[in-house]
Parts: sequence; structure tokens; C-alpha cells
Amino acid sequence: MPAAVTPAPTRKCRRVIRCVGELVRTGILHDTGFENCRTVVNLNLDITLVRIKEMNFRLRKMRALATAKAAGVDGLLVTHLPDVRYLSGFTGSNAALVLTSGRAVLFTDGRYTGQAKAEAVGSRVVIAKESAVATACKWMENAKVRRCGFDAAHTTVAGLNAMRKAVSGKARRGLFVPVESVVSRLREVKDSDEIGKIRAAASLGCQLFEGMLSYLEPGLTETAVAATLEYAARMGGAEGMSFETIVASGERSALPHGRATRAKVPKRGFVTLDFGVILDGYLSDMTRTVHMGKAMPVERDVYDFVLEAQEAAVAAVAPGVTAGEVDEAARSVLRRVKLDTYFSHSTGHGVGLEIHEGPRLAAKQKQVLEQGMVITIEPGVYMPGRFGLRIEDMVLVTATGGEVLTPSIKAWTEL
Ligand code: ZN
Ligand code: ZN
Repeated sequence: MPAAVTPAPTRKCRRVIRCVGELVRTGILHDTGFENCRTVVNLNLDITLVRIKEMNFRLRKMRALATAKAAGVDGLLVTHLPDVRYLSGFTGSNAALVLTSGRAVLFTDGRYTGQAKAEAVGSRVVIAKESAVATACKWMENAKVRRCGFDAAHTTVAGLNAMRKAVSGKARRGLFVPVESVVSRLREVKDSDEIGKIRAAASLGCQLFEGMLSYLEPGLTETAVAATLEYAARMGGAEGMSFETIVASGERSALPHGRATRAKVPKRGFVTLDFGVILDGYLSDMTRTVHMGKAMPVERDVYDFVLEAQEAAVAAVAPGVTAGEVDEAARSVLRRVKLDTYFSHSTGHGVGLEIHEGPRLAAKQKQVLEQGMVITIEPGVYMPGRFGLRIEDMVLVTATGGEVLTPSIKAWTEL
């Protein structure tokens, strides 16, 4: 009898294998589980994907609760929507998620009955008749939660008052405890599922930039450039743009945040494009600066120094390195050529479900980079009234260094 032939894994199988590998690496699944799953995967059962998805969310919820407990609470109320999505999978616009030992309950309203059940795998769904947060607070009181951590960074004074009003006078005292950055710190390190989604968004961003190279010409308004890019993004499957597209041309390139205006792309001068797309909830962010027509030598020189600074910072990315050290790698290049005073912002930021996440890559930042973080590296030089430019990549922190996720051309480009 000939030996059984194992069919080549399909794309979906390969994705499942990657997810299972992640669970093994994080200790949730034992090694033998990996082999068992591989067998199941080869049978190509959809159910495996659902289970893996559920395990991803379960792992995130377990970590969030463990961190919250270490801060002295026995329950966690999550109201910041990107955090709710990260922990439960739910993408609706109104939600509160409660985590207590062994339980995860998602509160939302009647518009999301079907969607919440489909998306929030592994969480119990409660459709609230009044405010989702108030219902969540009442539920916690009934469930005898003694100290509930709430997100100090995203809860307003009015929000906290409403939470207090929702519970009885007795429960009100001491129930709500502010906790900081519990979920946002977890979100800084991306798992393999998230990295896959970020890669896809970054790669769409690169395709869009390449398309713009053949489109850009003098006389187009910045808004027309932004509109064309955004139309192509939507046609490419983007759910939206990560932020308002920046198109800064000519003298306006000296504005670090030059939103597109009716100004026209000049015959000679820089055009900076800073934009990102949202795919499957995850954001991309990249900047390229091109030159229209023939450049002055000083423009070419400054471009080369910014590129050198950007590449030095990308090369400095590695696990164990501090965010401040990566910032200094870029800043020191510009300091050497006396351009550092024109570099008026930080070197980069984390990016994922939101455009500005931790870690922050700025001068003297002590936070240590970890494998799985996705950050931007974006030094720039801005000379008011003259010109400016910035070059930005997204970089994944790997086991040994950094991998650029936005490999579009950075070499001097004259159109
Ligand atoms: Zn950007
Ligand atoms: Zn950025």
C-alpha cells in the first residue's frame, strides 16, 4: 500500500497553522496540540478557524484580567471601543465589556443583536435597554464585583458620574477604581493574526503610493491628489483612511501636518504624501516625499540627510533597544549636519487598531521595544517658508531586528 499523501495546505490551512503556532509559542496549547491541529487542518475543517479565533480573544481577555488583578481589582470595565474590539472581536459603535474571573460579558444595544453574537465569539452578549455602560455597572453590582477597574484615560467626569449613578449607594463606595493603560499596553505587542492584518494594510498603502507616482503632475490641486488616492484606496478594499490624508506641496511641504488644500502641485518643489488605509480594522501609515521638476542642490542634500536619518533609525530597531535610542539614531544624523532644530516632532509611534498607539519613539523615552511591536519611523525636516520633507515606514520588531512593512521606493524621486 502506498504511503498516504498529505495534501498541500491551502491558504486558509497555512493561516490556521500560523495561529496555532502562536498559541503554542505563548504556552496556551501544548506542542502535541499543534500536531493534532495540523492533522485537523489538513482535513480543512472550518470549525478549527472559529476555535482559533476564539482562543486568540480568550488569550487577550485572560491577559487583560490578569494585569487588572495585579492592579488590585477583581473586575475590569472596558469602554474604549478599540479595546473592546481587541478583546472581544465586536466592531459595533456602542459597547461596554466586563471581564471578571471566568466571565466575559459584552453589553450593546438592539441594533447589534446579530452582529454582536457573530463577532464576539467567547463573550456572553447582553442587549441593554438603556445605556450599555450603566447596564454593565448594574450587572457588576449583582455579580458582587467589589472593585472594578475602569479606564482612566478614556472615561470622562460625566461618564464616571453616570457609572456611579447606575449602582446603589452601598455599591457606589469604592466600586470604581481608575486603572491606567491595562489594555493599551497589551495592544502594543501584536499577535500573528494582527501582524497579518497590518501587513495587508501596509501593502495596500504601498500599492497606492506606486499608483500616485504615475498620476502626480503640476497643476493638480492637493485635494484632487488626496481624492484620487482615497478613491483608489476604497476600490482596493479599504474600509476607510487611517486619518485625514496629508498632501503638502511646494512651500506647504514645510508644514509637518499639511492637510490637502486647493493649493496646486508646483512645477518645481516637493510634494509630501502621508496617508494610511484601514483593512480589517487595522491601520497603515506611511509617508513619501517626491520632487516635481529639477531640484536645487540644497533640496537634494536635505532629502539625502533625512533619508540617512530614517534608515539609521530603522537599522536601530531591535528588541531590547529603548524607544529613545531609536529616536536618537535619527536625531544624531540630523544634528551632525545641523538640521536637528528643523526636526520638530518625535521619530515615531506604535500603530494597530488606532493610528497613535504605544510605544512613543521620542527623545529619552525609556520604554524597551519588544518583538511583535509595530512602529513607525518618520523623521522630517521643515524649513518654514522654504520647503520640508518627511519619510515614514512602518516597522515590525522581529526577534533580531526590524522588518520594514512598507518597502515602497525611498530613493530620490524626481517627477
Ligand atoms: Zn504618517
Ligand atoms: Zn505616523
